[in-house]
Amino acid sequence: MRRWNGWGFEGIEYPLHEPALRMLEERVGTGEKPKEVTLKRLIKSLPEPKIKSFPHATDCPFHRLTHSYGQSFPDWIKFKTGAFIRTPDLVCFPQTEEEIEEIVAKAKRQKIVLIPYGGGTSVLRHLEPPETDRPVVTVDMKELKRIIDLDENSLLATVEAGITGPELERALNVKGFTCGHFPQSFELSTLGGWIATRSSGQFSLRYGKIEKILQGCKVITPTGTLKVNPYPASASGIELKNVVLGSEGRIGFITEATIRVWRLPEKEIVGVALLPSDEAGIELIKGLSQSGIPFTMLRLSLSKETESSMSLMAHKWWFKLLEGYLNLRRLPAKRCMLTYAISGHPKQVRLSLSYLKKEVKRFDGVVLGRLAGRRWLRDRFKLPYIRNTLWDLGYGVDTLETATVWSNVPRLTGIIERILEERGAYAFSHLSHLYPTGSSIYTTFIFPLSKDPEENYHRWLNMKQKVSIAIVKNGGTISHHHGVGIDHAQYLKEEKGKIGIETITNIIKSLDPDRIMNPGKMVKP
Ligand SMILES: Cc1cc2nc3c(=O)[nH]c(=O)nc-3n(C[C@H](O)[C@H](O)[C@H](O)COP(=O)(O)OP(=O)(O)OC[C@H]3O[C@@H](n4cnc5c(N)ncnc54)[C@H](O)[C@@H]3O)c2cc1C
Repeated sequence: MRRWNGWGFEGIEYPLHEPALRMLEERVGTGEKPKEVTLKRLIKSLPEPKIKSFPHATDCPFHRLTHSYGQSFPDWIKFKTGAFIRTPDLVCFPQTEEEIEEIVAKAKRQKIVLIPYGGGTSVLRHLEPPETDRPVVTVDMKELKRIIDLDENSLLATVEAGITGPELERALNVKGFTCGHFPQSFELSTLGGWIATRSSGQFSLRYGKIEKILQGCKVITPTGTLKVNPYPASASGIELKNVVLGSEGRIGFITEATIRVWRLPEKEIVGVALLPSDEAGIELIKGLSQSGIPFTMLRLSLSKETESSMSLMAHKWWFKLLEGYLNLRRLPAKRCMLTYAISGHPKQVRLSLSYLKKEVKRFDGVVLGRLAGRRWLRDRFKLPYIRNTLWDLGYGVDTLETATVWSNVPRLTGIIERILEERGAYAFSHLSHLYPTGSSIYTTFIFPLSKDPEENYHRWLNMKQKVSIAIVKNGGTISHHHGVGIDHAQYLKEEKGKIGIETITNIIKSLDPDRIMNPGKMVKP
């Protein structure tokens, strides 16, 4: 069963051992866990819904509560302490496209606010009900999960958009295919959510961001159904796919999507290499991403992230052996870790791997081989469970991400980490989605919690605001793959400009003139 007040499924834990606890105490200090609210108390505190009935809806307090938040840090304060909770009046669980049409038509007539809900993994408050006198209904898409068509000849699958990552991969894998989209939230997030937030998966170097995967779609908007056909390419005017990508629930419900699928690779290897410095690591991955040689993933943990990952593993016997080996090879303590994946025809995998090995050697690095890679692959969706453990220990954790051109990557990473550390957080970064022109930067920051939910919120807000301003003023995009939601909305103008924001607003207005769809997210209202 899914946890109602934390990340992931009940029963999956991420315990921390002595070396990691010591590292946290040294780097972050000690925090205090705020008093936790019980489910019973929260449910009792909910106000009466403003409406009683609506097609395919329930007023069940548990559903109202658990559909009122995602996974942002402010959301964690809500479900852990009960502060700032504002729930929808009702929650719908439609089973078919026709039922969604019915929901939209009724909401349009009665000016009811609708919030599409995929897997509830948003980290930017996309799902927060607005402060409004109008009734708010959240629409959970999870029942729309059928594979409608698999065109093996054209490598296209048409799928209902409420399908989760594991449901999609299982259905494709049995037929010998993969979509190749593996965000770290894979266990819970949905195809519709990926499209609406412009998500990126761990293997984006081979399969691309969702923008590349999406070929066509159907969206039920308040003004009618928008259909985008999956042509292999087209020059027929402005690309309507781009109106749907990143739409964050503002234009309607993405009910189905045609996605590019791949035949399962004949061979896939994942391995780890260590580089003697951040500079060497960045030069190496830049060169690899510009070489034209196919890789599936190149993920560079910069030295601080490498150090923290290693302290997570430091209680294991094999890690001690590894440390001994690295000391023998005289790799400096400030090393950085490259996790790589290569997939495809065995001959091509061999070629890519031998090129990578040659390059790692040229930068005085060490290839550790596949054991560490296999462990990474096995545990790749487990790491987010650490958020539950950290909260219980009195630590808040959040992540932020951006992308910038190669010439700006080291500078912007330094700025982001400095701003967070000046405000008492421990911050570390990795570069994981690479392009010939630049890279994403993904920063994790951990900070001590206090007993007071308001104080925690303001501490986080201060860090988020300062760092977001610095990102957009220093050549970074406000988001490479998490989207905008509420938390990034105020920084969007710096990136898009006045005309850009007006264009987005007018597109939304033309599809949703009464602003019933997820108002307040991305742009006002
Ligand atoms: C631990 C963790 C790890 C993460 N890792 C990654 C990662 O590696 N890569 C990445 O890209 N993101 C990641 N995220 C962020 C999040 O998973 C993505 O933003 C994801 O795409 C959201 O999908 P969802 O189905 O959960 O959507 P939700 O959170 O339910 O909704 C997000 C937005 O999409 C809209 N929406 C959802 N479904 C539809 C639909 N069918 N039609 C119209 N609008 C819709 C909602 O209204 C909302 O505005 C992570 C989040 C967490 C908590």
